[in-house]
Amino acid sequence: MAAAAMLIGDPVSGAPTVAREKLEEIFEDVRSHPLYDHELYGCLNCGICTATCPSAYYYDYSPREIVQLLLTENLEGVYDVMQEKIWACAQCYTCAARCPFHNSPGGLVMILRETAIKHGMQSAKDVLKPFTRVLMKLITTGNQLAPNMITPDAFADWGPNIAKIKAPLNILRKAIPVPTLHTMDTAWEVNIKTSIELYTIWEASGVLDQLETIDPNLFDVVNDLMDEKREEYQEWVDEHPAESSAV
Ligand code: SF4
Ligand code: SF4
Repeated sequence: MAAAAMLIGDPVSGAPTVAREKLEEIFEDVRSHPLYDHELYGCLNCGICTATCPSAYYYDYSPREIVQLLLTENLEGVYDVMQEKIWACAQCYTCAARCPFHNSPGGLVMILRETAIKHGMQSAKDVLKPFTRVLMKLITTGNQLAPNMITPDAFADWGPNIAKIKAPLNILRKAIPVPTLHTMDTAWEVNIKTSIELYTIWEASGVLDQLETIDPNLFDVVNDLMDEKREEYQEWVDEHPAESSAV
């Protein structure tokens, strides 16, 4: 077969051509996702999902289009929406509540996003880049936004409300009658054993592999922090054998 016949491109967007084998591999990853058959049952093409979708109101985005592309196995179209459109979904699941076929276009978008990350697509890298600090916090501490991350520079989109964060949060949080909330470095303190259990889950479930694909530098930093915490926990276990067996 001639090389040109093996390539499929998008004649409208002018995006680089992609080998058909690659398109088939991506589509197969989407279709074999354990949740796929629970999110897509059929489609009347009625457009109710798009009519009630908040993202469709503001962006060039349509859940009906996503469902139709998947249902008709339009490999180029699926690949094309993964380059930008899937990141417009707000994950509100209004579509799932309204679809007469009980489809979940929002759930299908999540599968497409996971697949975009798995394949290291540039769209996934671009979308996740601003969240590097949040991702690191989440993976290393078990919670995402910490009080000391809320700065005017980081949340300029809050507008005038950003002035409210000038309150002495470090003092105010000490007044909360829940000791795990007295910290500023994390939203709440997570037990180190729980943190290590989370690391194991993220390793076993492939979350860290996905992180390595999307951001190798962040992956290295996260790995170092996880090793430090595991060593710290092991030292504590060695020093407190009786207490650690009771935890
Ligand atoms: S989950 Fe996504 S596709 Fe569904 S209604 Fe909300 S924004 Fe639209
Ligand atoms: S609401 Fe359901 S059946 Fe109607 S177009 Fe959307 S996915 Fe298809």
